[in-house]
Amino acid sequence: MNNKVILVLIDGLAWQVAHDCMGYLQGLREAGRASLYRMDCELPALSRPLYECVLTGVRPVDSGVVHNDVTRLSTEESIFHLARKAGATTAAAAYHWISELYNRSPYDAVRDRFTDDESLPIQHGVFYHADSYPDDHLFIDGEILRRRHDPDFLLIHPMNTDDAGHRHGLESSQYRNAARRADNFLSAHLPTWIEQGYQVLVTSDHGMNKDHTHRGVLPEERQVPLFIFGKHFSHDPGAAPRQLELCGVIAELLGVSHEKIWNKKLLAA
Ligand SMILES: [Zn+2]
Repeated sequence: MNNKVILVLIDGLAWQVAHDCMGYLQGLREAGRASLYRMDCELPALSRPLYECVLTGVRPVDSGVVHNDVTRLSTEESIFHLARKAGATTAAAAYHWISELYNRSPYDAVRDRFTDDESLPIQHGVFYHADSYPDDHLFIDGEILRRRHDPDFLLIHPMNTDDAGHRHGLESSQYRNAARRADNFLSAHLPTWIEQGYQVLVTSDHGMNKDHTHRGVLPEERQVPLFIFGKHFSHDPGAAPRQLELCGVIAELLGVSHEKIWNKKLLAA
């Protein structure tokens, strides 16, 4: 396979809220153009450890990125590294911890916020460092990167759902409405991506609980959605994808060589 891939990682989006509130994505699923899976995130259910898990296929207890204050470059081979090794173009509109894990650490906003450096694993980046950075701006940042640089792999990583969950909790209208807004922003961009043949994954690092946080094994903090769009997915309801497999799945879609675990059943034969 030799596809372009967009990974949308909606920070802190619990599976049930994604299922109940994302009417546009669910509409595509009902029309047979998308599939939705439920996954358990790896542990601890924290952001930086799970960015590393999704982007390298290594669980936190093995990567050593076990809490949010592990401020260093990843020591694993990420999907950005695999893509670059194969000569593919990479881009990300993402929280600054992504820049710290794969480009340069610690993050220096003046140097790193707008990144264009062919030699870095993430060649083109728009990184932000306020959790309240508006999702609509972030989705536009991602779309600008896509149009400007035509990346083979693009990560889009909005934070407002997680931020609303920390401020107001799982059972708040603010948290659910943040997820609805993300669905709305996706409805502005996804039709073009699908039309242009991208393989798209929309998922989350972890969920959210009633105590305004996340870390453990409660279903609401551990269960996350995986929506997939594109003809190179099998759309097999029995595929049972795992969070650890996403890095390898994306490498397969991109057609780059890798030694990651992946999920054969999730992809079209
Ligand atoms: Zn959080």
